[in-house]
Amino acid sequence: MEDNHIHSISSKSACKVTDDICLPDTNWPRLVIVGGGFAGLALVEKLKNKKVQVVLFDKNNFHQFQPLLYQVATSALEPDSIVFPFRKQFNGYKNVVFRLAVVEEIQPTSNIVRTNKGDVHYDYLVLATGTTTNFFGMDTVADNSLGMKDIRDSLNIRHMMLQNLEQAAITCDDEERDTLTNFVIVGGGPAGVEMAGALAEFCKYILPKDYPEYPSTIMNIYLIEARGELLSSMSDKASSKTLKYLEDLNVNVLLNESVSNYDGSKVITNRDNIIMAKNLIWTAGVKGQFPKGIDKKYVVRGNRIKTNPFLMVEDYKNIFAIGDIAAVITEKTPKGHPQVAQTAIQQGKYLGTSILNIIKNKPIKPFEYHDKGSLATVGKRKAVADLGKFRFGGYFAWLLWSIVHLMSISGFRNRLMVGFNWAVSYFTYEKSNRLIIRNFNKPSESKSTINSQPAVKKITIND
Ligand SMILES: Cc1cc2nc3c(=O)[nH]c(=O)nc-3n(C[C@H](O)[C@H](O)[C@H](O)COP(=O)(O)OP(=O)(O)OC[C@H]3O[C@@H](n4cnc5c(N)ncnc54)[C@H](O)[C@@H]3O)c2cc1C
Repeated sequence: MEDNHIHSISSKSACKVTDDICLPDTNWPRLVIVGGGFAGLALVEKLKNKKVQVVLFDKNNFHQFQPLLYQVATSALEPDSIVFPFRKQFNGYKNVVFRLAVVEEIQPTSNIVRTNKGDVHYDYLVLATGTTTNFFGMDTVADNSLGMKDIRDSLNIRHMMLQNLEQAAITCDDEERDTLTNFVIVGGGPAGVEMAGALAEFCKYILPKDYPEYPSTIMNIYLIEARGELLSSMSDKASSKTLKYLEDLNVNVLLNESVSNYDGSKVITNRDNIIMAKNLIWTAGVKGQFPKGIDKKYVVRGNRIKTNPFLMVEDYKNIFAIGDIAAVITEKTPKGHPQVAQTAIQQGKYLGTSILNIIKNKPIKPFEYHDKGSLATVGKRKAVADLGKFRFGGYFAWLLWSIVHLMSISGFRNRLMVGFNWAVSYFTYEKSNRLIIRNFNKPSESKSTINSQPAVKKITIND
């Protein structure tokens, strides 16, 4: 398909004047993709140099590798190791155009997307906008805690953590010091478990070296999970092994417990337990995010967009949804597929083939998800794996987790940087990125400073 017609939409071509956003003119159908996450990127890659004009909109100019956000948050990796610029990614993609813009609305009747930079006409539209943190309507919790959904969130967590540790060294008030060095992670899924494990390793290996003035017990880490087990999407074996790993690392795991309020210092749970903590990281839920214009009848649980087995938003015919935002509702999958990277990548690749067939008026097959298994890590040499009938943990699960994640990162340089950092950290237990580059204030604290916080109470955990 790589043919000499591709030059017909090269950058020297005239813009299509009917649109507000300058795009190369083309006789080929135009596919607009909103979102360059795992799903959108896999779709673009599948359509590389095919006879379709691909226009990718993203609010960032980079793709991000969310599974390693917690390592940026805990200073193990630099942000540019896990993000990759779209324009570099698309070197040599002659039919692909990237535009940095937020898509605000779609108009299905006129086939137009409205962005914050202008309008664009489409022949086919793919929504791959992913999810955002879900605080389940608890505004005070949202204002005072930090989610972990993108690279900015990770850097905010890193700055909050380092600033609070520094402030703890300054204060002479024991209660305030405790509050500044207590960490609460809400949500016992992979993101919460991995974050808790990484913080516990930070506490074990870094804290005594960097902050010799603190006793080793100063940093208390709590992991709060509303269900009765961790990693509920994995096997019982994986859940119980993970619990054991975390307890061995001195993480306080509170199961069957949920956060009902948090004012920036005091975490209150549904069982009326109170934990005093300046650091609350929320990984307990996500909800779909997408532009205005989709009829409410297609919006299902988790704010996801319901599609048919061809990933098509039924009735619209030329609008598709893929990745975390899509809920492919069938008899076999009444709640849709799991919101993980594998689903997103498989849907992106599938839709690439389908769209080419649709353009050629060829029949298309329904999407089928192939579960390749699940992996989660708690720390060095501690991970769990569910691969078909095989369920195992420990060193080999950790090695497998490391290889799979390393190979999945975009860009050779990024893989090299991550691999190098991991190798250094493996042998030295060192994480070298503990710089406070900018002052971070939570939205609720932006008018005050840590110094002006009132004295705080001690942790009281009820049985
Ligand atoms: C902390 C964390 C850890 C995770 N760990 C794992 C793991 O270990 N294994 C695993 O399989 N999965 C993991 N996941 C889940 C996985 O990252 C998601 O399933 C996957 O990213 C979904 O891909 P997506 O393309 O649907 O959405 P995303 O990757 O979220 O991409 C959405 C894209 O859309 C863009 N966008 C959104 N709205 C607009 C708009 N209006 N206009 C323009 N652009 C827009 C965003 O900027 C983003 O680039 C993790 C997720 C998180 C948050």
